[in-house]
Amino acid sequence: MKLFRFILAAIFCLLPFTVYAADDSIDNTVHKVAAKGTVALTFDDGPTAEYTPQILAILKKYNIKATFFMVGDSVKLYPQVAREVLAAGHAINNHTLTHPLLTKISDAQLYKEITAPQKIIANATGVTPVCLRYPFGASNSHVRAAIRAQGIVPVPMGFNSFDYDRPGVDKIVSWVLKNAYSGQVILLHDGFFSREQTVAALPLIIEGIKKKGLGFSQICVNN
Ligand SMILES: [Zn+2]
Repeated sequence: MKLFRFILAAIFCLLPFTVYAADDSIDNTVHKVAAKGTVALTFDDGPTAEYTPQILAILKKYNIKATFFMVGDSVKLYPQVAREVLAAGHAINNHTLTHPLLTKISDAQLYKEITAPQKIIANATGVTPVCLRYPFGASNSHVRAAIRAQGIVPVPMGFNSFDYDRPGVDKIVSWVLKNAYSGQVILLHDGFFSREQTVAALPLIIEGIKKKGLGFSQICVNN
């Protein structure tokens, strides 16, 4: 009986580690942080007809490649914009179908939020996302396991620029530049609401980061 209890205890102790190790290994297949000496610019919640092209033009001017986490429903609306993002050399990844809190929905809904954008983005652009950034930074081990079960790497939100609060261009720029560091992933937005402040802030952010001696790299590059 004692031995049985010991074996049972040992199994329960080791189980989380076994699951974690198997579960987590997919994360090593892509870069989730920026390369040393660089930051990675990431744009969530697009594509949009109005703001994504303006951001593409700025990135082109500075010859910077970024990573876009797109909402499936928005890709359905603007597949041509998604194609332009890819054609410009940027990475396209999954930011769910409808942008819900993944921790608050049923397993059936969770499955749809993860898998539907993979197909929508592949149909629109020809590439399949390798990463999914969960909306609002909200996840738990169940959500991350469901993402990994589809062969997709879950990624957190990155350094929050708070551009979605539209606090003013100067505030966005100074907050980002004050906190920029080597290896950082910076979160900006090209969708859902008016993003004119993000568009106005972007050249100043890029120039400020260059002045700090940092370069730019991409995360979650499509294979
Ligand atoms: Zn988002």
